[in-house]
Parts: sequence; structure tokens; C-alpha cells
Amino acid sequence: MNVENCPRCGRVFAKNFRDICPACMKDIDNQYETVYKYLKENRGCTISELSEATDVPVKQITRFIREGRISIRSAPNIGYPCEVCGTPIREHAMCESCRLRLAKEMQNSDEDRQRAEANRLKENQISFNIKDRLQDRFR
Ligand SMILES: [Zn+2]
Ligand SMILES: [Zn+2]
Repeated sequence: MNVENCPRCGRVFAKNFRDICPACMKDIDNQYETVYKYLKENRGCTISELSEATDVPVKQITRFIREGRISIRSAPNIGYPCEVCGTPIREHAMCESCRLRLAKEMQNSDEDRQRAEANRLKENQISFNIKDRLQDRFR
């Protein structure tokens, strides 16, 4: 049996298909119900108001939104923090400027890798030529 500590409460549980223990599962389901109900009746609230009213951490509400369990399409004041800089956003995991920056950084490291690879090939070529020449000399 695959037994593990629950990352949420620390209790030991049999790991099946879930990453957290059954008690936490139930807890989160309850939190979801509370958030869902409150949001349905208070569409104009912000995420911190929602968190305060329901006693559910912003982080957990964020998770509900990101998982698609809670829709914020009809709640115009709800935003959750960008994973990198904390700017309130309403879609994706990061704000647009962080996404752009990350895309750029990824492109740069790609270019770096290509340059390193080209250098390595060139060096191999040179040492190969030297070896060839040495072999010629001792023939
Ligand atoms: Zn747990
Ligand atoms: Zn950001």
C-alpha cells in the first residue's frame, strides 16, 4: 500500500488517486461549496472580501478558479494574484507582462544553447584536424 503524509494537514493516508487525505478532500469540498454559494449571491465582491466572508484562504479560492471549479466570468471584481509578481489577473497563471518576459527569456536561453552547441562543434572540428595532422606526421 502506498502510504504518504498529506501535504495539507500532515496526516498519514493511503495514497490512491488523490494527493491529499480524505479529511482534507472533504474540507476542500466544503470550502468550495461555501465559496460558490457566497459568490452566487455576491457577484460584485473582490477576492479578499470573498475570502473574509467564507473564511477560505485566497490561495485556495485561486486554486478553485484556476481549476475551473469556480467561474469568475460573472464576477467582475474578482482577480487572483499573478504567480510571479502578484498583480491581480483574471486568466492564465501569470500576468501578461510576466508571460511576455518569460517567453523572451526562454527564447534567449534557446539562442544561448544553440550558440554553445555551435562552439562545441567547431572545437571538435579543430581538435579533429590537429589529430589528423599529428597522425600524418607520425606515419
Ligand atoms: Zn490532509
Ligand atoms: Zn506578473
